[in-house]
Amino acid sequence: MTITSPSPTLSESILVDGLQLIGGEWVPSVTGRTIEVINPANREVIARIPRSDAADVEAAIDAAERAFPAWRDLNATARAALLFRWAQLIEEHTAEIDQLESQEVGRPHWGPPPMAGQLRFIAGQADKVQGVSLPTYSPETLGFTLREPYGVVGGIIPWNAPGPMFVTEVGAAIAAGNTIVMKPAEDAPLTPLALAKLALEAGIPAGVINVVTGYGHEAGAAIPASPRIRRMGFTGSPFTGSLIMAACAKNLTPLHLELGGKSPQVVFPDADLDQAIPAMATGITLNTGQICAAGSRVVVLRSIHDEVVERLATQMQKITYGPWHQPVNMGPLINEKQHSRVLGYIEAGRKEGADLVTGGGAPQGGDYGNGFFVQPTLFDNVSPDMTIAQEEIFGPVLSVIAVDDEQEAVRVANGTDYGLVASVWTRDVGIAVRMSRALQAGQVGVNNALGAGVIGGPFGGYKNSGFGRTMGADSVLEWTQVKTVSMRPAGAPRI
Ligand code: NAP
Ligand code: MG
Repeated sequence: MTITSPSPTLSESILVDGLQLIGGEWVPSVTGRTIEVINPANREVIARIPRSDAADVEAAIDAAERAFPAWRDLNATARAALLFRWAQLIEEHTAEIDQLESQEVGRPHWGPPPMAGQLRFIAGQADKVQGVSLPTYSPETLGFTLREPYGVVGGIIPWNAPGPMFVTEVGAAIAAGNTIVMKPAEDAPLTPLALAKLALEAGIPAGVINVVTGYGHEAGAAIPASPRIRRMGFTGSPFTGSLIMAACAKNLTPLHLELGGKSPQVVFPDADLDQAIPAMATGITLNTGQICAAGSRVVVLRSIHDEVVERLATQMQKITYGPWHQPVNMGPLINEKQHSRVLGYIEAGRKEGADLVTGGGAPQGGDYGNGFFVQPTLFDNVSPDMTIAQEEIFGPVLSVIAVDDEQEAVRVANGTDYGLVASVWTRDVGIAVRMSRALQAGQVGVNNALGAGVIGGPFGGYKNSGFGRTMGADSVLEWTQVKTVSMRPAGAPRI
């Protein structure tokens, strides 16, 4: 499908305007207040969403509590079938959902949307949630474990890939028999709402999935603040993650956190640069660098440093950018705040003495005038302690750090607070093995960026990139709690 307008008309079957989903009903916020969702390519308003607060969240928790017993008790194969049906509807609406997500995120088409596949992978786990039989001290006793859902759970997701994040969080939680209250980001809530609409159409009962929209500090904060939320999943920045964890701590609510990254790309002298260079340039410009896994630091052995920088610069200059509906590689950033944040980091790089090789600013005029554009930017001679080498920029800004040997490469690669993804580029199996073990990251790619290409790879961070794993074969189990049952006939002798 080719989209040629920055504001293509979305059919009513997919676009939800001004309403959110609570207990199977499309409702406004209790206060009636709304927030505008804009197209970052031209700042036009696409739709409005309810600006909810704690009262709306309480209503959603009520609905989720009402839906929970029947959903928990539905047999697991029937739950799986409903998730498969949801995946089917998502597939049937692929083009529209893709367009909606592009429109609110500002991202050019980037390949087949993964949502239906992700959901099928999760649906396949729904009826494979198993306990174990336990050894006992006497034959009269039977011991086993049950894995049970928590009850009403909560999820908060960011705006950079709202569709995939919504289905992985919601899919796994409800596959396990929980019911959920979700808060998407106010910048990109329309894809989650559309996906929730399809879930209802698929027959997933009212109240199993509730989507409350609004600002993080209002609607978002009310979710972990409620003691009726039995488990939380949060994806976003470490700063907000720590607030969520503090709120969960008050209620002793368990959670997982998927936070940011500052992923290193370690390039050894024997690397296949024909493979590595395009992958690294794409890795930092895909979704305008707004990917938690984006490889934002090139840690390169000094002997090939000059060649790597030169080729990276050429490659990054080939990245085309413009409004997402044009055939370009890269769209705008999501919003004004993000725009000034990324430009601020570029300024910090300059001030702290890094060498700007290419890019370095916001393109002016024409198609760029109204959008939040920034050029693909490459900094060389970055030292490991500079701000641009330590902090997550969440924009298309790549920093090159030269190192002398493998030990220094490991030290620099591991030398940030983050540990989400890391890549190694080498033909040497020995280096690949040692680096795979030495890198502190939830995912390591050898001759591969962004952890791509694996089906069912657990995703999550080391260190401040968070804890807990999503997307893997045991992601549904993360949403269950274990109960040990010991059973004896009445009148059996004491052990
Ligand atoms: P953010 O500011 O932390 O926001 C994430 C979500 O939390 C949004 O829905 C936001 O709502 C909400 N929120 C904000 N303040 C809140 C509060 N006080 N209480 C409850 N919820 C609150 O993150 P962002 O800047 O939008 O997203 C980018 C970050 O997400 C980056 O750090 C990126 O690395 C990370 N990320 C991680 C992964 C991963 O899987 N590890 C994936 C994607 C992104 P509003 O925005 O509506 O206010
Ligand atoms: Mg935000």
